[in-house]
Amino acid sequence: MVRVRIAPSPTGSLHVGNARTALFNYLFARQNQGTFIIRMEDTDAARSSRESETSMLEDFQWMKMDSDEGPLQGGNFGPYRQTERLGLYSKYTQMLLNNNKAYPCFCSAEHLQEQREQKRSNNQPYRYDRACANLDADTVAKRIKQGEPYAVRLRTPQEHVVVHDIIRGDIQFETDSFRDFIIVRPDGMPVYNYVVAMDDHLMEITHVIRGDDHISNTPKQVLVYDALGFTVPKFAHIPMILGKDHAKLSKRHGDTTVANFKEKGFLQEALINYLALLSWSPKTEREFFTMDELIQEFQLESVSKSAAVFDVDKLKWMNGNYIRQMEPNEYYKRILDFVRASELFTNGHITESDIANEERFTKILLTVRDNLETLMDVGQYLQPFFTMPGLTKGINAELSPEAKEILELPTSKDVLEGFLSELKKVENEGNSDGNHDTDTYTDTYIDTYIDAQTYKGLTKIVQKNSGAKGKALFMTIRVGISGEHKGPDMAELVSLLSVAEMISRLDYTIANRL
Ligand code: GLU
Repeated sequence: MVRVRIAPSPTGSLHVGNARTALFNYLFARQNQGTFIIRMEDTDAARSSRESETSMLEDFQWMKMDSDEGPLQGGNFGPYRQTERLGLYSKYTQMLLNNNKAYPCFCSAEHLQEQREQKRSNNQPYRYDRACANLDADTVAKRIKQGEPYAVRLRTPQEHVVVHDIIRGDIQFETDSFRDFIIVRPDGMPVYNYVVAMDDHLMEITHVIRGDDHISNTPKQVLVYDALGFTVPKFAHIPMILGKDHAKLSKRHGDTTVANFKEKGFLQEALINYLALLSWSPKTEREFFTMDELIQEFQLESVSKSAAVFDVDKLKWMNGNYIRQMEPNEYYKRILDFVRASELFTNGHITESDIANEERFTKILLTVRDNLETLMDVGQYLQPFFTMPGLTKGINAELSPEAKEILELPTSKDVLEGFLSELKKVENEGNSDGNHDTDTYTDTYIDTYIDAQTYKGLTKIVQKNSGAKGKALFMTIRVGISGEHKGPDMAELVSLLSVAEMISRLDYTIANRL
């Protein structure tokens, strides 16, 4: 029965590197009908926090890596926070001391530091001199009784340790550099390499799948397993994720946490798919996988030994693909939060009543969808449907050089005035059609819209009267009603803007920009 775990230290937000490690554990567990466990390594009291734990657990949930055991739901091998497990370890320490596999070390931290510095100044590697390794039992008992503080050191008689790694094969480590390493500090706190081995054993972890930044810790853990008579689990050390400059991926490279990507409107499906392909690939060219497909296809043995480069542009491209494939309803539901968070909304250019006009709003959202790489991009593409730069304050009013050039064409004035007058005719017809509620004398006013075909008809008239055609006709109308030389398809844009809105934009352009 496969049992694997992700063991983050809750000292911040979940890093994509840890998310990828969790994913490989999760995929491996699910494809083997195994158990996926979350364990919080929270013994660093100064840096660990419950907020961080909560946010990490939320991120795992958001990524749909549901755990079978963990701090929230518990399980038969709990507790699942290291700080709640401290009592479990002392029994093993006592056992190691009784068997003479470990010994108390009374060397003070200052003394050890001095030795270390002396070696360093002579350019020699530091090794513990094993001063306390052979103290006689009476001396030890007496010094303990007198209350002298001591660390516990593990005896490491082996000269080397071989770690069998599923991804990297056998790796041999010389033990000299960490001989008789400390397993319990003088303040009673057991160290990571000791605790992690006990936890993995007690939780019956069968495969330790983690980042290869831990590879140098593994021989120490193997020594702990051996000393305690525990079976050594299988190890798989997965390569690091690097930034584009090939340095370890860190904040300096930009967004690195799952929360960053969630906030920016990356989809869980895209992030999972992208992370799965960092240092793993199927034997084919295929790039798109659902979680279920990954569970089928993923192979721990075929994870590469070399580090992967995190390419946010590739992730964006993948995310855009996922956005375009979403069910329209799902897309609408998920994107509304990003619409409401956009500046257009907070500045009041998009209002709740725009959103409530579901038919029009859905059409607009589907129109802009092809441009989106993240859901957060939506704000920038919605702009032409709700406001024109310059016409409303707060939005950059500078025309682009290309847009200016178009308005400088000799025909532009005729085109814009012609189009304006055609729109005014449509508007008047619309109003006399009963859009004013004359029965009750209220000022209810229903916006008039034109469809793509009407638009085409109007441009024909303008073309005839102004003599402009092609770019001089269509681009001029585009700049006249959007203030931009590029943007959404014109037939779609004009059919989603009310005639009144287009009239006021054209009025502005004619008065201020020609
Ligand atoms: N707490 C360690 C980390 O976050 C994980 C250790 C392990 O997986 O053994 O890097």
